[in-house]
Amino acid sequence: MKGIQVDPERLRVTAQAGCTWKDLDAETQQFGLAVTGGLVSSTGIAGFTTGGGIGWLMRKYGLASDNMVGADVVTADGQFVHASADEHPDLFWGLRGGGGNFGVVTSFEYQVHEVWPTVLSGLVFYPAEEAEQVLRGYRAACAAAPDELTTLVDMTTAPPLPFLPESVHGKPIIGVGGCWSGDLDAGEAATAPFRSLGTVIADVFAANPYTGWQQALDPLYPRRVHNYFRSAFLRTADDASLRVLMDSLATLPNALTEIHLQHLGGAVGRVPADATAFALRDQEFIVNIIARTPTAEGFAGAVEWARGVASALGPATYVNFTGEANPALVRASYPPDTYRRLVELKNEDDPTNLFRLNQNIPPSV
Ligand SMILES: Cc1cc2nc3c(=O)[nH]c(=O)nc-3n(C[C@H](O)[C@H](O)[C@H](O)COP(=O)(O)OP(=O)(O)OC[C@H]3O[C@@H](n4cnc5c(N)ncnc54)[C@H](O)[C@@H]3O)c2cc1C
Repeated sequence: MKGIQVDPERLRVTAQAGCTWKDLDAETQQFGLAVTGGLVSSTGIAGFTTGGGIGWLMRKYGLASDNMVGADVVTADGQFVHASADEHPDLFWGLRGGGGNFGVVTSFEYQVHEVWPTVLSGLVFYPAEEAEQVLRGYRAACAAAPDELTTLVDMTTAPPLPFLPESVHGKPIIGVGGCWSGDLDAGEAATAPFRSLGTVIADVFAANPYTGWQQALDPLYPRRVHNYFRSAFLRTADDASLRVLMDSLATLPNALTEIHLQHLGGAVGRVPADATAFALRDQEFIVNIIARTPTAEGFAGAVEWARGVASALGPATYVNFTGEANPALVRASYPPDTYRRLVELKNEDDPTNLFRLNQNIPPSV
């Protein structure tokens, strides 16, 4: 189910649920259009969108789910319905952040935006020894960043890439990545504060085709490795949180494991908290802790490490960055009022919990 139809006049795209972001970006970019997609292009649009959908365009255009204007859905009682602001509005609310709890979406309709022909995007790498200076500087730079700029800090191990000196390969390193989706000339000035946070080891920011940037990280995320994601929203990146991140960089369990500190706000933060099931709108950052091992060897230790980092940062999580089915973590992904409303919707739409192989919101009936 990979059908895609772009309507460039209405600025809409309809995509069937089997599409990945690579599929969708390829079609929308034929018209110079895009909607917020994932950082790795093999990610499916369906789980990504129903869980929220954090990506490089979010500060300018919102989450993927904020751009969803309608969805075709097979419900638990076997009906085929269209959910939108006008039809089944409660279901439409739940599909934007409530995950796969309320039905099987067969196609999504999104609003799309002009993102063309290139985005100023890339990464700049700093030494791990400068972590404190870089993280503090990053926090300050984010406070002044325009909406066109979405950035993250990647605390990782330097891969053997040609633009990194051999002397750093295999050592802890900090990357600051970003995507500027506005006027290219203004992008140099907007990204400059993020590209001068410490001693620059390499700066590979450049004007990239949007699809090129959307696929730039793909080689780092091959299939068949063992993965475990955890996350924590940060209302603000206070000093204690930055200290946890610095300590965690120093204890990364292996070279595949990394931590992303992603800047939210902008258009994401302007959506009212009760407008969609993705309700943690007042959080300035999200931390994604990505524990990975090439085989089962060492995986249990990496998972324990990720759990430790997450719990040191705080309870609020994001369902799409939660690598285990754990009712307490699902509950922590939503403010209490939102969770209550999700349970009411579940009672109404799926009282037998047919859709339970997910980040589950069990019915209370
Ligand atoms: C390498 C990698 C990079 C990622 N990067 C990002 C990122 O940048 N931003 C971000 O927000 N998330 C990211 N994620 C998390 C991603 O959003 C979730 O893993 C999401 O569930 C993937 O969607 P999928 O359709 O591929 O999932 P699947 O594994 O196919 O499904 C996962 C869940 O999604 C729901 N679901 C799937 N299809 C449907 C459907 N048709 N109807 C209703 N519910 C459905 C179900 O609950 C299902 O259990 C990343 C994940 C990976 C592995």
